[in-house]
Amino acid sequence: MSLSQPKVGFVSLGCPKALVDSERILTQLKVEGYDLVPNYDDADVVVVNTCGFIDSAVAESLDAIGEAMAENGKVIVTGCLGKRSEVIREAYPDVLSISGPQDYASVMDAVHTALPPKHDPFIDLVPDYGLKLTPKHYAYLKISEGCNHRCSFCIIPSMRGDLVSRPVDQVLREAEKLVMGGVKELLVVSQDTSAYGVDVKYAEREWHGKAYATRMKALCEGLGELGVWTRLHYVYPYPHVDDIIPLMAEGKILPYLDIPFQHASPRILKLMKRPGAIDKTRERIARWRDICPDITLRSTFIVGFPGETEDDFEELLDFIEEVRLDRVGAFTYSPVEGAAANALPDSVPEEVKQERLARFMELQAQISEEKLADKVGTTQRCLVDAIDGELAIARSMADAPEIDGLVQIQDGRDAGLKPGAFVDVEIMGSDEHDLFGEVAYDD
Ligand code: SF4
Repeated sequence: MSLSQPKVGFVSLGCPKALVDSERILTQLKVEGYDLVPNYDDADVVVVNTCGFIDSAVAESLDAIGEAMAENGKVIVTGCLGKRSEVIREAYPDVLSISGPQDYASVMDAVHTALPPKHDPFIDLVPDYGLKLTPKHYAYLKISEGCNHRCSFCIIPSMRGDLVSRPVDQVLREAEKLVMGGVKELLVVSQDTSAYGVDVKYAEREWHGKAYATRMKALCEGLGELGVWTRLHYVYPYPHVDDIIPLMAEGKILPYLDIPFQHASPRILKLMKRPGAIDKTRERIARWRDICPDITLRSTFIVGFPGETEDDFEELLDFIEEVRLDRVGAFTYSPVEGAAANALPDSVPEEVKQERLARFMELQAQISEEKLADKVGTTQRCLVDAIDGELAIARSMADAPEIDGLVQIQDGRDAGLKPGAFVDVEIMGSDEHDLFGEVAYDD
């Protein structure tokens, strides 16, 4: 029966938030009876979900559109780059339709026009929790769109607008369905997770007969009821983040915070239009570790921001050395078309940016290696992602998928582990990024 259904190809680019948009569109396509096909030849029409965050993402998105035009010719474009439709039209005037992020209705309209759906009584067989692009045992949970900040290097607010929070009961119901569908780890994403609910004045909603505020803490309490791992991403360093650390200490949500600090020099933070009170951040980190000693802190930093002097950069190195974050990503500053930071004077020469990045990464690699070595001899609760030969490839509570390290379980296959299984692992070795161990059996 499905062979007679209209067929859609799908190309998904960009960040986890764009991935969530893709999942929504794919779910709707499936609900309406479209077949999803993995190649251009079989597709009657191709949807490309684009990213427009930095120049390299724009180029990648335009390449993807170009490939789909050349290989198929019937192309619907959506996503962040869709906000700049003139860029797309100039390169590919014949694309069928262009829409911006979260504009599911426009994408579906364009698909209906190009390829009317056929009635199929079996279309309701789509699982209740929708279709996911991530492996079955973890899923991204998008809680809001847009952002009220105006960091000078970022154009997301101009592309996605101000913060719009999803009602807390809707998010909790979606999370519950995901868990019923086999998900073991929920990854909470947004542009600014800690601002959740500000726009709706923390409106209360009911879930399972209990009132929950549309607010980060209440959301975490609700998610904590589901009995799976909940991991928070993109948390802005606000004081009220302190309120959720006890939930981590109690084991309700994972003791893990992805909190982009971006820099540690108050002068550069001010130029970035980010919170500049770095001493408060230092105190806050110390307090979090007092309340929850096992907390894993991940952060990202930008080096070579316009105006960054050697002194500013050394302030950043001192901060990293002092606070010893567990996981760190760093990027050299690259101007994004339309960002306010482009107008700042004193841009840093490329070779200086690269040299600073190398020094930063060398220091962090050393810290990471030492911190992971401290885990040798401990037992870590892990979630298995895959089986690779003899090994099970897993992650501990300290490791988010895609961006952090792994735990290689040497006897994983013999122990009969499967993706999605939780297992205690005795850690026997470590390197800069990963841990190695064996299944821990009770004596
Ligand atoms: S917090 Fe700053 S970097 Fe993040 S989306 Fe908002 S404006 Fe952009």
